[in-house]
Amino acid sequence: MKEIVTLIAVLAVFTNCTNSQQQSTTDDAAQVTIPSINTTWTDKIVKTEAEWKQQLSADAYEITREKGTERPFSHAYNDSKKEGVFLCVACQNPLFASNTKFKSGTGWPSFYDFYFEKSVAVGSDNSYGMSRDEVVCARCDAHLGHVFNDGPKPTGLRYCINGVALQFKPQQDLRSAVFAEGCFWCVEEIFESVKGVTAVVSGYAGGEEENPTYRQVGSGSTGHAEAIEVTYDAGVISYTELLKVYFNSGDITQVNGQGNDIGKQYRSIIFYKTDEQRTLTENYIKNLNDSGEYSQPIAVDVEEFTKFYIAEKYHQDYVKLNPNQSYVVAVSIPRYKKAIQLFPELLK
Ligand SMILES: [Zn+2]
Repeated sequence: MKEIVTLIAVLAVFTNCTNSQQQSTTDDAAQVTIPSINTTWTDKIVKTEAEWKQQLSADAYEITREKGTERPFSHAYNDSKKEGVFLCVACQNPLFASNTKFKSGTGWPSFYDFYFEKSVAVGSDNSYGMSRDEVVCARCDAHLGHVFNDGPKPTGLRYCINGVALQFKPQQDLRSAVFAEGCFWCVEEIFESVKGVTAVVSGYAGGEEENPTYRQVGSGSTGHAEAIEVTYDAGVISYTELLKVYFNSGDITQVNGQGNDIGKQYRSIIFYKTDEQRTLTENYIKNLNDSGEYSQPIAVDVEEFTKFYIAEKYHQDYVKLNPNQSYVVAVSIPRYKKAIQLFPELLK
């Protein structure tokens, strides 16, 4: 069995490095997609009162379905100055952005504008002997509060909203990091499984050639390495934790290659984008070398980032889209499975 696997692996080296049959005829650049707040919904959400009761906390049910009002100054969102977006607690429809929040002194979170055109609907509320404009979530009809005409410019409106009806989504602190560690199909798959990682793109970095193709990089003549650019939310995962993922995802003592993929294009490099990334990386490597756990020195280069070229479209999400491809079966998936056991606390 082992021989068969080895044979497959050897064959697969050629599949990965030199087979150009699957080469795309275009060099479509893959776009970095960052998950965002959902403003594209089309259908309203309709549930029975029993279903809402089961889903929501008692407070949230009372406010949103029974048009309750929380005690003024009772909710933490009243004073909150954090940057982000307030969603509907019942359906996560984005309702208000923090940059339209203002201090009204009323004791309820107050905004002068809604987030987008499908955030809220306004109706008439004549309860308690008052005539007020009720504000509901446009997607699920949750009662949110009321709107008055005594707000600040530019709208002159004051959306007076129950904090209980809201769910705060902090603004993401998105940063990026670039790593190379052999075949980018494998490395991309591993990093995509890591929490706080919002996008991983396969490409080329570290060489001189402008706009290199896969074939050029594969020939080893461009100086580029197969690399990935990781976009991550620094509020969820730190750069040091990404380094932990990196240093547990491959053979970090192999010089100019990874497994059977041999050549400068498969060398291990971390491209730092900031002085902080550089210091963290150099210290991490020093600690590994000092730990005595490795019989060979750590063979990971550390270079300043200059440019990242996005690889051809068909290289993006390659493992997910080609789970039966021979190299993926023989190398990528085993490497992925081995790696993720070493940092379970960092997985999505
Ligand atoms: Zn809603």
